[in-house]
Formats: sequence, C-alpha cells, structure tokens
Amino acid sequence: MGMVEGKIALVTGAGAGIGRATALKFAQEGAKVMVSDVDTKGGEETVEMILNDGGEAAFMKADVSSAGEVAALVDKVVQTFGRLDCACNNAGIEGKVIPMADQPEANYDAVMGVNAKGTFLCLQAEIKQMQKNGGGAIVNLASVAGLIGFPGLSPYVASKHAVNGMTKNAALEYGKEGIRVNSICPGGIDTRMLDSLAEQASGGAQSTQEMMDPLHPIGRIGRPEEVAELIVWLCSPRASFITGANVPIDGGYVAQ
Ligand code: NAD
Repeated sequence: MGMVEGKIALVTGAGAGIGRATALKFAQEGAKVMVSDVDTKGGEETVEMILNDGGEAAFMKADVSSAGEVAALVDKVVQTFGRLDCACNNAGIEGKVIPMADQPEANYDAVMGVNAKGTFLCLQAEIKQMQKNGGGAIVNLASVAGLIGFPGLSPYVASKHAVNGMTKNAALEYGKEGIRVNSICPGGIDTRMLDSLAEQASGGAQSTQEMMDPLHPIGRIGRPEEVAELIVWLCSPRASFITGANVPIDGGYVAQ
C-alpha cells in the first residue's frame, strides 16, 4: 500500500524539475494527481509519464499568480477527482541575480507575484476546499533562501521568507480543522532553476556542479526525487503530528 493510497493530490509547477518528480512520486504512492503548470507541454508530458507508469493524472494550465486561475484549478480538481486531500505549492521563479540597490522593480514584482502571492492564493483556495473535505495536508516550496540570505537574490530571498511565514500562519489558523501545512527548504537541487542561478552567478565560467557541489557539506547538490520523497511523506498520514514546520532538505547547507 502506498503512502498516499486513494488520496487526491494537486501539484503546481509540475511540468518540470521538483514539481514533476513530486507528481510522479504522488502517483507511485497511490494518489490521483492534478498536474498544473503555465507550461502546457511540460505538464502534459508529466501526465503522460504518470499514465505510462500505470497511475492516474490530469493536466490543467494555471498561472498561480492569478486568483481566478487558481480558484478554477481547485474547482477542476474537485470536478475531476471529487475532492482535494494533498497539495504541493511548488511553482516558482528565481528572477535576476543583481545586488539589491540595483534590482529592477519589475523583477521584485515578478518574483514576489509568483512565489509569495502565488503560494498565498493557492493556500486560500486549497484551504477552503479542504475545510469542505474535513481536512488535508499542504506542502509549500520555500528554500534555504527562506532561512538565510543570498547576495544578489533579494527578491527571491524575500519571497521564500514570506512562504515560510505564511506556512506557520496557515498551520496556526487551520490546525484544529485537520489541515496540516508545512514548508520545505531545499538546498541546490539539479533542475533548470539551479542551472540558471549558477549561470547568472558565475557568468557561465563554471558548470552548475562545479559551482554548487562544494557549497553543500554532503559534497553534492540534491536530486528532485529526493525532495519529492519528503514532500509526499509530509502529505501522508505518517507525518500526522507535523505542522507549521519549515523543514530543510539541503545536504547540510544551513548547518554551516
Ligand atoms: P523549474 O524552473 O525546473 O520548475 C518550475 C516550474 O514552475 C516550471 O515548470 C515552470 O513552468 C513553473 N512555473 C513558473 N511560473 C509559474 C506560474 N506563475 N504558475 C504556474 N507554474 C509556474 O524549478 P525547480 O527547481 O523545480 O523549482 C521548483 C520549486 O522549488 C520553486 O518554488 C523553487 O523556488 C524551489 N526551489 C528550488 C531549488 C533548486 O535548487 N532547484 C532550491 C530551493 C527551492
């Protein structure tokens, strides 16, 4: 029996990277999965991978920074699968690596719009649905950048600190209604986003691995599948007494 057997799960930003690995893991552990992304091709590929693996999944395009699209997405989950038990608010963007005083206002708005406001809007819609179900579990994607600062990444750091804060608030407000809300704080994970950050920070002088591996006490960056494992476990009944936590999964990064 899977960790989330018979549950209904929603994953945003599931067309690539950590979100795709999480959607696949939810399905492997017995959940029916609504895959969502702004990237239709990537999202449909994720669904295809789940179906080929013998799982059940559907795709809906939605931009998490739009309240209307997020509400329609949660409605679609209920129309398709009947309810909502687990949600992973994963969609995110890294933005531009520039010292704070020179950050364009548009970059701050874009990064906060997707990462902070997007997570807030998803929490609102998911919680309202989970109240109707009598409970549920939510995992938000923060980052080690939600726990400590990173030079050049002030909008991203602000957005991920916001995610960690709103995670605690949601846990406090809805714990007695059976809704658990946690966030996770990954270190460097091998995805397009980390390649973009390494490229911007080193100007292309170093590969992602050359630059990022030595920064982690464990000696390497992480894999999306390692993060998916934690997300699905936190959404499962095995994590029944964990709520309001900001859990690092970072090869020891913030222990330094
Ligand atoms: P990624 O760029 O590989 O995937 C992100 C996905 O989100 C893409 O498919 C993209 O199309 C989608 N997306 C972007 N904007 C969206 C929007 N407005 N609405 C819906 N979908 C949208 O990145 P990833 O590395 O897999 O990152 C996933 C999450 O993990 C992000 O929140 C990121 O900040 C966080 N994170 C990543 C790392 C890392 O090292 N890769 C570390 C810590 C935290």
